[in-house]
Amino acid sequence: MNDPLASQRPHLPDRSPGTPASGRGNPPGRERASGGEDSPASPCPAGLAYGPARSLYVHVPFCRRRCGYCDFAVVVSREELEPQLLAAYQQEASWTCPDQPLETIYLGGGTPSRMSPAGMEHLLQQIRRRFELAPAVEWTVEANPEDVTPEWLRLLRDYGVTRISLGVQSFQREKLRRLDREHEPEQIRRAIERVLRAGLVLSLDLIFASPGETLRQWQADLDQVLASGAQHVSLYGLTIERGTRFWSLRRRGRLAEVPEQQQAEMYLAAIDRLSQAGWEHYEVSNFARPGFRCRHNLGYWHCRDYHAWGPGAARHYQGVRQTNHPSTTTYLRRVLAGRSPVWQSERLDPEQRMREALVLALRTLEGVSPEEFAYRWGRSPWQLAGEALGRYLEEGYLVEQQGRLRLSRRGLLVSDSLWGALLGG
Ligand code: SF4
Repeated sequence: MNDPLASQRPHLPDRSPGTPASGRGNPPGRERASGGEDSPASPCPAGLAYGPARSLYVHVPFCRRRCGYCDFAVVVSREELEPQLLAAYQQEASWTCPDQPLETIYLGGGTPSRMSPAGMEHLLQQIRRRFELAPAVEWTVEANPEDVTPEWLRLLRDYGVTRISLGVQSFQREKLRRLDREHEPEQIRRAIERVLRAGLVLSLDLIFASPGETLRQWQADLDQVLASGAQHVSLYGLTIERGTRFWSLRRRGRLAEVPEQQQAEMYLAAIDRLSQAGWEHYEVSNFARPGFRCRHNLGYWHCRDYHAWGPGAARHYQGVRQTNHPSTTTYLRRVLAGRSPVWQSERLDPEQRMREALVLALRTLEGVSPEEFAYRWGRSPWQLAGEALGRYLEEGYLVEQQGRLRLSRRGLLVSDSLWGALLGG
């Protein structure tokens, strides 16, 4: 799910400036369709028009099984829905304004790597045919380690994909089992080797504070990240969401959560280890080697507009946020009947939009310059939320350095609890 205001949750659609792999072949489907609804030259469609924007998120809802902690919009073992899903993407593509070249694309889930190779090729073609791509496009596809084969990577690379986000979660067998993950540490190592050999940028998703996990075990995972050759990592503290299997286990006293103090130590250990190794901690949950920040997610945090297709996917244009229906079958029924898949739509008033922009900017470690903010939004953060900002500075959750406001180490530990007051809640 591509919710930029989401808290630190496992397996979020991360979603770096990633260096595109060089030496792309001449991808099939690169040639643009001429005329018709698929043509990039066609005007923005009337009625159900999406756009314009320079980023695209596509939600692929397939999963082999539901992990005990996951509350995302997914369907389990329903790969037979793939043809309908591709037809629905095609319909959403025809509603999407293709006027601006895409600078970032993110195929998230769910598990995009669960699509058949032919289905994935179809989706890659749809995107190439609908949009012009900017020369340095960052194009990410999420994958589970067990699905990564040299042939699959070749297909992606041939169409211009530049980056793989691998749902590793842990390098340790026992922790993977506790998290309901099916892959083995050997499959992770093989997948990493294959992605790097294919010349693609590699991002890893890891979870800390899984039930019963110790600081030592987490440090072993961090060692593996540093040794892996990956250029980017997203680290999420396990949160237990209502409606998940972990939620009911906890209610029955059968799941031991890691104490808060220890969770904080794990997060700080990650910040220290990665920073000492030269990685940049650039957003609450995200770290990159220099030059490899995720540009797609930076677009969310910098409040840029984005298209989105698929069940549960959220798009944003000029202060209007729309979220598609999260049920895959309802989404398919609506779209394939030519009806809007929008489930929630919200027009943010100018003040709400500014407040969200402030929170999103504060999630990044570069923070916010009050002058630049006022230049873009017409009001300074002080005029908008001066009382809360002053209090957070006084209490040490924010620091003011070189003319910018940003989260302190203390603020990083509790950032989710700070946003309510800034959003006006
Ligand atoms: S693989 Fe990812 S999206 Fe699918 S159920 Fe597990 S955590 Fe959720």
